[in-house]
Amino acid sequence: MKNKGLLTILFFSILLLVVLIYINYFNNTIYFKNLKSYDKVEVFSDYGKDDKVVACYGNNLRCSKIKYKIQGKVNTKKLGIYTITYSAKKNKKILTLKKKVEVVDTTSPELKIEGVFDNVCPNGKTSGVTYESVDNYDGNITDKIKYKIKGKKIIYKVMDSSGNITKKEFDVTIKDEEKPTLILNDESILYIAIGSKYVEPGYVAIDNCDGNITDQVKVSGKVDTNKKGTYEITYSVKDELGNETVVKRLVKVFPKNNYVPGVVNNKTIYLTFDDGPGSHTARLLDILKKYDVKVTFFVTNYDSRYSELLTREHNEGHTVGLHSYTHNYKVIYTSIDSYMEDLLKIQDKVKQYTGEESWIMRFPGGSSNTISRRYHLGIMSELTKKVEEIGFRYFDWTIMSGDAGNTKDTNKIIENVTTSIKENDINVVLMHDIKSYTVDAVEKIIDFGLANGYTFAPLTMDSPIVHQRVNN
Ligand SMILES: [Zn+2]
Repeated sequence: MKNKGLLTILFFSILLLVVLIYINYFNNTIYFKNLKSYDKVEVFSDYGKDDKVVACYGNNLRCSKIKYKIQGKVNTKKLGIYTITYSAKKNKKILTLKKKVEVVDTTSPELKIEGVFDNVCPNGKTSGVTYESVDNYDGNITDKIKYKIKGKKIIYKVMDSSGNITKKEFDVTIKDEEKPTLILNDESILYIAIGSKYVEPGYVAIDNCDGNITDQVKVSGKVDTNKKGTYEITYSVKDELGNETVVKRLVKVFPKNNYVPGVVNNKTIYLTFDDGPGSHTARLLDILKKYDVKVTFFVTNYDSRYSELLTREHNEGHTVGLHSYTHNYKVIYTSIDSYMEDLLKIQDKVKQYTGEESWIMRFPGGSSNTISRRYHLGIMSELTKKVEEIGFRYFDWTIMSGDAGNTKDTNKIIENVTTSIKENDINVVLMHDIKSYTVDAVEKIIDFGLANGYTFAPLTMDSPIVHQRVNN
């Protein structure tokens, strides 16, 4: 009986052993050791070198290492979440696990600020301070730097794309002694004819501290476009600390020049300018344009640097008449042929620049000149007939401005002209656009004429003839 009991114990012991052996050796699974489902790594670090993952085939008690495969990559140069797949295979068993790896940036940007803070605008803008911010991931983020004034301190702050913030603060002295800049669009003196509409051309105001403060500009003054006169418009603007800039504009309202092509009235002035174009012609054209006054230019080839102005004269509605190519009395008044050659040469040049053939002309020295006697007796008597036969129309003048040599005084020129202009006269005024003191006189002469009801007109083929007595 005693043996039977021992046998039973032995049997159960062997059975237990068999079960244990079965569990240990035949009930195997695949598993991973040290594999997290989520991991965080700093950008630009070396990821993966210290991966301690082990794949096991076995059970809780026992791990026999087996090979495993990794699929997927972590780009540590780029922020983001990456998925890595681990898989192992053994005895027809397969295990696949995924791991999320997030590449993060937890490094704050560098913020470099240099300078002195004794001249800081109320809004924090500085002129003597430079700042720069470089982030390990974003690169240069200087444009992301923000600043604000808090009490007597300025606080600079910069945040990178991952939300890392760097802050710096400094003691400041708030000061701004610079006035805003106020720039007027268009000219500071405007010219408009009576009855036309005045439209404010606008302005721009920029302040060193406040930036564009155009919307804070105050405009005062009025223009009565129905009344002749010079009106003043005042523009003013203040910056935050009260520095003020004031700018003025003059608006000149003048009577309209009522020139209508083909219509001649008894109060007409023909301004004529000889010997150009020259260095003052462009300025003269600007003045004439402002007042919409058309004149006549009797042109030469004195200074070919200004030849382009022939085109402008023509395009702006003036008459481009012929004076002489050389204006050299000694050459042109030697013979009829010599004169005609010179005249046709300037006619060619005018056509080249204006596209039109001009048949209006003025003799150098006028048709009454006596200087031609020195070179060819009786030539003016012949020439005056000859040019008209061919089809030219020559014009002398009735009013001398005196700028041909007698005076260089602008006021004297104005006086000479304005006292000679008469109603019912054919007022053809001789002037020279190669003289600055003459061009200086033109605006006052126009003022006088328009204020007294005269019309300024260019000479045309239909204009009343003004011929002086021929003296040679
Ligand atoms: Zn001349």
